[in-house]
Amino acid sequence: MKVVFRNPSRTEAVAGPARVGDVLARLGVNPETVLVIVDGALVTKDVVLLDDAEVEVRPVISGGAGPARCSRCRATAVIEVARHRAAYCGDCFLDHVRAQVRDAIDRHRMLSYDDRILVAVSGGKDSLALWDVLLDMGYRADGLYLGLGIGAYSDRSGATVAGFAQERGATLHLVDLADGYGYDVPAATGLRGRSSCGVCGLSKRYVFNRVARDHGYDVMATGHNLDDEAAQLLGNVLRWQTPFLARQSVVLPATAAGMARKVKPLYRLGEREMAAYCVIKGIDYVVEECPMVGGNTVLRYKDALNALEVASPGTKAQFLFGFLDRVRPAYFATADPEAATLAPCGECGQPTPSSEGRAPRCAFCRTRERVVAAVAARGAPSAGRLVQLEQQGGRESGA
Ligand code: AMP
Ligand code: ZN
Repeated sequence: MKVVFRNPSRTEAVAGPARVGDVLARLGVNPETVLVIVDGALVTKDVVLLDDAEVEVRPVISGGAGPARCSRCRATAVIEVARHRAAYCGDCFLDHVRAQVRDAIDRHRMLSYDDRILVAVSGGKDSLALWDVLLDMGYRADGLYLGLGIGAYSDRSGATVAGFAQERGATLHLVDLADGYGYDVPAATGLRGRSSCGVCGLSKRYVFNRVARDHGYDVMATGHNLDDEAAQLLGNVLRWQTPFLARQSVVLPATAAGMARKVKPLYRLGEREMAAYCVIKGIDYVVEECPMVGGNTVLRYKDALNALEVASPGTKAQFLFGFLDRVRPAYFATADPEAATLAPCGECGQPTPSSEGRAPRCAFCRTRERVVAAVAARGAPSAGRLVQLEQQGGRESGA
C-alpha cells in the first residue's frame, strides 16, 4: 500500500493486508501523534488495510511530529538533509556520503583503483573527510599538507592532519612554505597587486602540482564541496568571467606533461554534510576558519546562496549541477583555453601559459621573487629563512 505522510511530506510503500497499528509501528510512527485517513475518512488502529490502499498519515501535534526517523531504516535520525527531503541515522548518513562520492567519481570518471591519488588536506572538515572516505572505499590515497605559516592556525592544522594520518596509518607529505620556498602567507600581506588570499591560492596550486609531479601521483584531489563550487560559480556568473567559467570544473584533465589531473569528489555534498560526517566518524578537525580570510567575497556568495536554499531547498545543487551537466558542455566545450599554449617555466619547469612558444617565468616564480625581496627589505623575521631557498621540496614524512 501507499502511505503518504504530510508535513514533512514523503511516501512509503508497505505490504498489505495489515492493521493500521502494525503499519504505523513498522514505520516507527507513534499512533498518538497522527491521524490515519483512508478515502477521506478516519480509521482506527484495528482497521485492516489492503495492499492497494492509499493511506494518509497526518501529524496532529503542533510543533512537530516527534523526533525525525531515518528515511532508510526508520531508526531515530541524527541529521536532516532538506535538499534530499531526507533524514538519516548515523550509519545511513555515512552510506549517503559514500554514495554521493561514488556518484561523483563515476559520473566524471575521476578516479580508478589503479591511480595513485594525492589528497590535499588542510586540517578542515572537507579534506579530512575526503581522505577518510577515499581510504574507506579502498583507493590508494596519500595526503599532502602545506604549512602556510599562519601562526597558531597553521600549527594546529598541521598537527591535526598528522594525527589523522598516524591514526589511519596513511602516508602524509608535509611541505612548509617558509622552509621550502623562503616566504609564508603573512609575509605576502600588504604587497601591492596581490592579496594574501591570492598569494596563498597561487602557492597551493603550485606546491600541490609540484609534489604530485615529483612523486609520480596520477591525480590530485581537493576537498572543494557543493557550497564552494556553487559560490565560485555565482561569482563567475555575476561578473561574467567567461574564461573562469570555461575552467570551472570538477575534473581538470592533465593538460601538459608535469601537470596532475585534478578532481573534486565532494562537489555533490554540502559543508554541513561534511561537518556532520566528521562528527559522526569522530574525526578531529580544525573548526576555526583561516584568520586571514575576513570579508572574503566567496563568503558573501555562500551567504546569498544559503538564503535562497532556506526558501527553496535544492537551489544550490540545481545551480551547480545544471552548469556542470548542461551549460558547460554546451557553451564552454574547450575545457581550458590556456591549455594549448602551456610551456615549462624557465625557472622551475612547471607548465605555465606561454606566448609564441617562449617560456616565460611562471606566476609563482615571479610572485615568490617579489615576496622574498619584500621580506628581505622589511627585515622581517622570516628573512632568515632565505638561505633555504635552494632546497625546493620541503620536509616530508611517511607516517
Ligand atoms: P580552500 O581554498 O581553503 O577552501 O581549500 C580548498 C581545498 O584545498 C581544501 O579542501 C583542501 O583540499 C586544499 N587545501 C587548502 N589548504 C590546504 C593546505 N594548507 N594544505 C593542503 N591542502 C590544502
Ligand atoms: Zn616557475
